[in-house]
Amino acid sequence: MAARDEPPTLHSKRSLNLRFNIPISKTSRFWDSLAQGKFVTTKCADCGKVSFPPQADCPNCMGGNVEWVELGTDAELLTFTFVQITPTSFVDHDPYVVAIGRLKEGVNVLAWIEGADPAKLKPGEKLRIESRKDPKGSAYYVFVKA
Ligand SMILES: [Zn+2]
Repeated sequence: MAARDEPPTLHSKRSLNLRFNIPISKTSRFWDSLAQGKFVTTKCADCGKVSFPPQADCPNCMGGNVEWVELGTDAELLTFTFVQITPTSFVDHDPYVVAIGRLKEGVNVLAWIEGADPAKLKPGEKLRIESRKDPKGSAYYVFVKA
């Protein structure tokens, strides 16, 4: 119930579409590799920190001396959630499972689990990362059960 002391407001029921242009020049290699089915990220050549998602600069020592390394695609399920009431941007999707998987290299990856039955998922399960292309040709990645 709205408080009577609140100032009057005007609510618009029009939808607002936002388009973001995010510069990815320093991390575009990730998307190029993903399109070829490879899962890569950045590793600091100075302190050895492996980051995911890829970073243009090391978040550990702030150095800019990063190199690309190929990650494996094997992961272990850490946790997940079943999204049944989807946000507006995913309204065309069926309910989906979002998970955090840990790769052997120690990095955590957030992605949907494709074709998962949330009632049967258990932390510790083996997952694998696979690349996909959306209808516009952009690469993305998902987990599948290994
Ligand atoms: Zn570093």
